[in-house]
Amino acid sequence: MGAQKLATIAVHAADYGSIAPAIPTVPPLHVATAFTFEDYADLDKVFDDPREGYAYARFGNPTVRSLEAMMAALEGAEASIAYPSGMAAVDGVFALYGTPGSHVLISRDVYGATLSLMRQQYAQIGVTLHTVDATDLDDVRAQAEAYKPTLIHAEVISNPLMKVSDIAALAEIAHANGAALSVDNTFGTPILTQPLAHGADVVLHSTTKFIGGHGDVLGGVVSGSLDVITKMRDRARTNGSVPGPFDAWLTVRGIHTLHLRMKAHSANALAVAKWLQADDRIDAVHYPGLEPEHLASQFLSDDRGGLLSFEIRGATLESCGRYLEAVSLLKPATTLGDVSSVTLHPARSSHRGFTVAERADWGIRDNLVRISVGIEDVDDIIADLDQAISAAIV
Ligand code: PLP
Repeated sequence: MGAQKLATIAVHAADYGSIAPAIPTVPPLHVATAFTFEDYADLDKVFDDPREGYAYARFGNPTVRSLEAMMAALEGAEASIAYPSGMAAVDGVFALYGTPGSHVLISRDVYGATLSLMRQQYAQIGVTLHTVDATDLDDVRAQAEAYKPTLIHAEVISNPLMKVSDIAALAEIAHANGAALSVDNTFGTPILTQPLAHGADVVLHSTTKFIGGHGDVLGGVVSGSLDVITKMRDRARTNGSVPGPFDAWLTVRGIHTLHLRMKAHSANALAVAKWLQADDRIDAVHYPGLEPEHLASQFLSDDRGGLLSFEIRGATLESCGRYLEAVSLLKPATTLGDVSSVTLHPARSSHRGFTVAERADWGIRDNLVRISVGIEDVDDIIADLDQAISAAIV
């Protein structure tokens, strides 16, 4: 071939090759949507089994796979699959177990969209949802025996009252009744607990939260046996529910400091919880690190996470609005797990779709506010809370 023309050089002259013998000190970001081969037989092999390599990014991408390998190692799982959001991860689990005609039991204080997904989308294909109080094991057992569900789904730490689930007991009830147990470990992260080791069949995360940790990337991951994850992957590769490589890369970068951040979140949250407990403007503080609570010490590490909620004495629906307007370091936002502290008012955000009676029945009072405690200096967090709580007192 003669010398290439400029248009060809512009398209092909970049260096596509490896940088061997140099090895990068951080995981590389692979953005290619397709991968080619010198030897066609190799490509053929990959089409038969995606674990053999890479052909097309919807089937597998090296950066996404490095996130999946990290999460499997952290959760002590055979395999993991990454999704573009936490809800896509929840959907991956529901699609596997929510078959037409099946029944599922879901803890009633899980993330609202998790319940809505089952109630709205899966009802259309004939899946019947039953909600349970996952901390009331008699209720869980009675409903499991009555409905023989394919799936029981709960969160490690409930929202917004921060009750810890008895994962081992839930697994025992699930398995005795032919169900799988899936556990959303978004609030805990594998640093606080590894639900598979306590008998759960699958564990999932919104990696948007503590795992990513910096409030700049959406994502989700499910971990479990190779068999279960392979089934989810078969579906994801055809319905296209795959994360982009840059999102996976940001998440990997977040994971490098997850253990340090969880320590800092937990230490700050414990200090804030103790300060609130000693304050006579506060009626109640909900944090799994306050008392040597039996379930918390059984299922969580000594660090108890960054989430807590508290009830402001005499505050109303309206005056809690003043608390949200008064905070300045803390940001009023419907997220959690970021390095910065954020706060919300469950009665008007996560639980606004429920009636006052339903909320009262579940112990979610109008004066309850939630904080995801960040890793700022705790004195500054407390100073901001101090003045914002005063604004809510009527
Ligand atoms: N699970 C829990 C416990 C959550 O708090 C959230 C979101 O807040 C989700 C799942 C959904 O995650 P995402 O927003 O990444 O879709």
